[in-house]
Amino acid sequence: MKASKPRLLIFGPQGSGKGTQAQLISKSLHIPHISMGAILRKIQNDDSRLAKDITHYLDRGELVPDELTNKLIAVRLEKPDCKAGFILDGYPRNKNQAEFLSKTSQITILLVINLSDEEGVKRLSDRLMCDNGHSYHLHFAPPQKNGFCDVDGLPLFRRSDETAQAIKQRLSIYHQETEPLIDYYRRQPAVQIIDIDGNPPIPQVYQEIEKKLVIHDKAS
Ligand code: ADP
Repeated sequence: MKASKPRLLIFGPQGSGKGTQAQLISKSLHIPHISMGAILRKIQNDDSRLAKDITHYLDRGELVPDELTNKLIAVRLEKPDCKAGFILDGYPRNKNQAEFLSKTSQITILLVINLSDEEGVKRLSDRLMCDNGHSYHLHFAPPQKNGFCDVDGLPLFRRSDETAQAIKQRLSIYHQETEPLIDYYRRQPAVQIIDIDGNPPIPQVYQEIEKKLVIHDKAS
C-alpha cells in the first residue's frame, strides 16, 4: 500500500472482529486507531448529563445523534497524530456521517469484514473490553493476564450493550444504515474497497488483510 497517509475505514457487522483487526493495522501502519464506540464509552465514565444521554442510546444499541458523533470525530481528526493517516472504526455509520466526513477527509481504503450475524452473535457472548476499545474473547482471544488489557494494562469489562436486544438492534442498524455506505464509497474512484472473510481465526484474517493491503511495516 502507498505508505503515505493511509486513511482507512473498517466496516463489519457486530462480532466480525473489526476492532481487533483495526488495532493490528494501526500497529503495522503506525497510524491511530480511532474507535467511535471507545470515544463514547470514555465520555460515559464522566459524571455528566452528556454521559447519561450517551448511556441511554448505547444501552439500547441505538446510534447516538449525528450532531454529537460528528463533533467528536472532527475534534479527534484535528489531532496531530492523524497527519500520518488513521483507521476509523465505527464511523461513519450512516449517510449523514459519511457526508460530514467527506468535507474534511478523503478516504483511501474501505475494508469490509464479512461475517454472518449468527457467527457474530456467538462471538459477542464472552467478549471483554478495556476503556480504550481493545477487545478480547474469553476463549478465542484471551488476554495474557487474566482480567487486564495486554496493550495498556487497563481492567477488562463486559459491555452493557452486549444484551440480546441491543445486539439485535445494532445488527439491524448495521445492515440498514452502514452497509449501504459500501455503495456510496464504491462510487468514489479514490476509494479502494477491500473485502475480507471474517470467518477464520484472528491471525488468518489479519494475514488476508496484510496480503490485500500489502502492508509494509517500517519497523521491520
Ligand atoms: P459495535 O460496532 O460492535 O456495535 P461500537 O463499540 O463500535 O460497537 O459502538 C457501540 C455503540 O456506540 C453503538 O451501538 C452506538 O450506540 C454508539 N456509536 C458508536 N459509533 C457511533 C456512530 N458513528 N454514530 C452514532 N453512534 C455510535
